[in-house]
This record gives sequence, C-alpha cells and structure tokens, in this order.
Amino acid sequence: MSETALPQTTDRARLIERLAEPRTYDLAVIGGGATGLGVALDAALRGLSVVLVESHDFAQGTSSRATKLVHGGVRYLAQGNVSLVREALHERTTLLHNAPHLAQPLPFVMPSYHWWESPFYGIGLMMYDALAGKAGLGATEFLGKARTRECLPTIIQEHLWGGVKYWDGQFDDARLALVLARTAAAQGALLVNYCKATGLVHEAGRLAGLRCEDQESGRSFELRARCVVNAAGVWVDALRELDGQASGRATKPMVAPSQGVHLVVDRDFLQGDHALLVPKTADGRVLFAVPWLGKVILGTTDTPREDLAREPEPFADEVAFILDESARYLQRAPRREDVRSVWVGLRPLVKPVEDDGNTKGISREHTVAVSKSGLVTVTGGKWTTYRAMAEDVLGKIQQAGLLPKLAASSTDHHRLIGAPVPGSATVRLSDAPGAHLYGDEAALLAGLPGADVLVAPNLTEAMVRFAARYEYARSIEDVLARRNRLLFLDARAAAAAAPAVARILEQELGMPQPTAPFLALAERYGTLPA
Ligand SMILES: Cc1cc2nc3c(=O)[nH]c(=O)nc-3n(C[C@H](O)[C@H](O)[C@H](O)COP(=O)(O)OP(=O)(O)OC[C@H]3O[C@@H](n4cnc5c(N)ncnc54)[C@H](O)[C@@H]3O)c2cc1C
Repeated sequence: MSETALPQTTDRARLIERLAEPRTYDLAVIGGGATGLGVALDAALRGLSVVLVESHDFAQGTSSRATKLVHGGVRYLAQGNVSLVREALHERTTLLHNAPHLAQPLPFVMPSYHWWESPFYGIGLMMYDALAGKAGLGATEFLGKARTRECLPTIIQEHLWGGVKYWDGQFDDARLALVLARTAAAQGALLVNYCKATGLVHEAGRLAGLRCEDQESGRSFELRARCVVNAAGVWVDALRELDGQASGRATKPMVAPSQGVHLVVDRDFLQGDHALLVPKTADGRVLFAVPWLGKVILGTTDTPREDLAREPEPFADEVAFILDESARYLQRAPRREDVRSVWVGLRPLVKPVEDDGNTKGISREHTVAVSKSGLVTVTGGKWTTYRAMAEDVLGKIQQAGLLPKLAASSTDHHRLIGAPVPGSATVRLSDAPGAHLYGDEAALLAGLPGADVLVAPNLTEAMVRFAARYEYARSIEDVLARRNRLLFLDARAAAAAAPAVARILEQELGMPQPTAPFLALAERYGTLPA
C-alpha cells in the first residue's frame, strides 16, 4: 500500500462531530448490514451525499451469521427460479472479482450412496453451469469412488458409490461488511455504528429525515435527508410502524423471521479442501459442512421465530438435527463436546406486502417497498445479491421521484478496499485466518505496533490496533466477533483472548473495556442447549 493510499481513520469523536453538522443529506440509510451498506456504497459512488446509522455494530445482525457461501442458489434452480439463479451467479462473479481477499471460489462435493444420486443431482448442477455461462467457476464433474474419497477423505466409505463436484464461492461476511462500510466512507459517506434511529421526521406528510441517538453518549441528533432507506433487516417493521403512525395508517408486518443455526468443529472432521453438500437430509433439507478459516461450519436450520432477539438461542432439536445429519456422512461423528462455537442468525423472509397504497412486493427474493410518505424499505434477499439489491433500491428511489435523475450505478466494477491486484496470490479462505484477509492493506498492518505479537491464535496485537483505528471497532466483541472471527470459530479461545484485547483497545480508544459482557457472550457461543 502506498503512502498516499493510507486508509481513513474511524475516530469516533470526529464521526460524531460530522453527525452534528447541520445539513441535508441526499440519502439517510438505517441499518449497517449487507443491505444498508450496499445501498450506502452504491449511492456514494453515484455522487450522492449519504449518512448511515447502525444501532449496534456493522454486521452485528444477520450479516455476520451467514453460512458464508457466495452462491447462485442450487436450491432455487430445483424450484425452477431460473432468473434468480442467473442474477445470483452474476453477483457471485462480481463479488469474487471485487473482493478476492474476502470472497473466493470453493469446490463442493455431493457424495452419493445410491447409483441414481449422481446422475439425478449432476444433471441439475450441469444446468447450474450452463446458467453461469462465462461466470462459471469450474465445470461440474462426476466423480468415481476413489476421487470422491480423495476430495472428502473423512466421509463414510461404506456403500460409497461416487459423487458430483461443483463450484460455488465462500466469503468472510463480517469482514466484507466492514470493507463495504470503509469503501463507502472513502467515497465521502458518513457511517456511524452504535447510533440507533429512534424516530422519523415527517413534514407535511413527507419524510424529511430521522432522529438518532449515539448509544455511547446518549446524545440525540436530527438528520435531514431527501430520502430515507430502511434497511434494518428483520427489524424493518418497527420503523415501518413509526412511519405508518405518523400518517395515521396501520402497517402489516412484512418480515417473517426464520432462524438458522451453525455449529463449528475442528478441521479433522472434514479434511481436504472441499465442502460437503448433503442435498437431502432426513427431513428433506440441505446441509453443508464448509471448511472456513481453519475450522468447519456445519449447518444450517430453518426454524420460524416470533421474536426478534439480537442473540437468538439455538433450540436443542436444531443442534441434534445438525449433529445427527453430520454423523450420517462423517467417519468421526462430531459430538456435542466437539462443538467449538454455536451461532444463530435470523433470515428476514418477506411476506407479500400490498398494504401501503403504492407499496408493493416486487421481487420473489428481496422486496423494496415505498410508503406514502416516501420511506423506502428493503429486506429479504441474500448476502450474495447485496449489490444487485442496492442497485434496485436506487432504481426504485428514482422511479418514485424521491431523488432527481441519478448517475448510473458503478458498483459492478468497483473494487473494495484491500482488494489485491488481480492475479496476486491469495491464501484460501478455508485456511486459518491471518494477514491475507487484509489484502493489499497487509503491508500497513505489518507496520503497526505488535505486528508479530500474538494475543490469540491467528490474532496479533496489530490487528486489534487496526480494528480500532480503521475499522470502527469499539469493544472486545467488535474485535473478536467481527474484525477477527474467533468468537465464531472457538468461543473458549475468544474468551481467553478477551483481557489482552481489552488492554490494547483501552490504549487505542482511551475508554475502559470491561471483559464481563464479552465473557458472558462467549459462554453462550460455547454452550449447547441441554
Ligand atoms: C442462517 C443464515 C444463513 C445464511 N447464509 C447465507 C449464505 O451462505 N449466503 C448468502 O448469500 N446469504 C446467506 N444468508 C442471508 C444473509 O445473511 C442475509 O440476507 C443478509 O445478511 C441480510 O442483511 P441485512 O442487511 O438485510 O440485515 P442485517 O444484517 O440484520 O442488518 C440490519 C441492521 O439494521 C440494524 N438496525 C435495526 N434497527 C435499527 C435502528 N432502529 N437503527 C439503526 N440500525 C438498526 C441492525 O442492528 C442490523 O445490523 C443467510 C442468513 C441466515 C440467517
């Protein structure tokens, strides 16, 4: 990295000072997950003035809890949803190109234990290849028994018939979110984490901005904006309700949350470089075992939920389902005591909406709804398609006349912060984390104090300093859950690292860092329900 390309610092006092400046933004975004960050970046690149507020940390909601797949969605193909798959395959290519340090191709193998399974699933996967066209990452292959064993050396061999190998991608979701935030900031957008939207400002029936509160100081601000985007994930309905109340209209909920559980175990359980896909579990679902950052992610589930917990709890039957299904395929069946971390995310599944006058569900996967007052709500979709969703949101804003004619989107080819020059060697995302995840900012990282001082496995003192200086980190959890993924990989190791991380953060941020809240969180991630 050259001197001139030094990254922006994320000094909080300066961010709050900017938040207090009286001005009218073109766009205010509520929610700093994949969706909101994607919208902020797209808008900033079009030359709009943008502010984004996130009530917790960037990606603390659903966007740090994905299965980490950049995928076209083989499942949607089985449902005949061809245009959706084609769009996601296009987005897969874009993401792999724009952030190769954080998103990479990954080979998957579906082992078959009956003669008909390989042709049955293989034909569908060949259609997947055909749809990908030039965006394909590698051709689907039918594997004999020996090759299947080579790719997945630790799967059960008895009655193994063969397998099918295909390609998709994987990524580091939380780090990608941070890179999106930083890339938007580099384009002039103001993004503030730990700043909750507490109200909407209406004038003569039109939305004119929002009220927000700095969660650290309790200080409130009114932000004026020509257009407000509600990208609050599973929490969008609370803001829609506020908007409805102001115009005396009742709003029906749009989101039906569904939770997904992941268990993390050591790499010994799934050796080799390939992910395992179980196309049909005992109850007809899909299960993945994915090598990621030196461990293996097993998951996921799909359980409807009524509540919207910030840290949803796994149910005992979800854990049992994942362990039982894994045991049907892995030679060494993972037991409860082998689980290093358990984490749960809430999918923002969208109900059809036709309730707000000109508001209407417009897509099968994600939905953009514009209310009478002009609140633009976007939810649903998946991480892989965040960029296309953002483009759609800006398109709907223009269509609804909320902002004057906009420049075209340029996110398709805009490489994200840290993206190394094309073709330069990258370490696989399935390998243990390290400086490679910083892409071409690794040199800057190496120059920070403590570059060779380890505070936890694969976490250096310099990485903690980098998180505080350039990546908006405010707490131990921010560092150990999202800048570094140790909490998601090994909850006990993360708890052990907490005091050292606290000491470095105290130096960097000049504020106390109590360890108790993080230790309680790590206890939850390290404990399975009885
Ligand atoms: C189990 C599971 C597995 C998945 N796996 C994959 C996968 O492998 N690949 C893939 O492509 N997709 C996957 N997805 C989907 C993907 O993770 C989601 O579609 C995506 O993360 C949703 O992002 P979001 O920004 O809409 O929501 P969120 O990430 O939840 O962001 C919304 C943000 O809004 C904030 N917020 C809420 N209220 C306020 C307020 N009043 N003021 C300010 N901020 C507020 C929240 O704190 C939150 O950070 C998975 C999802 C789940 C649940």
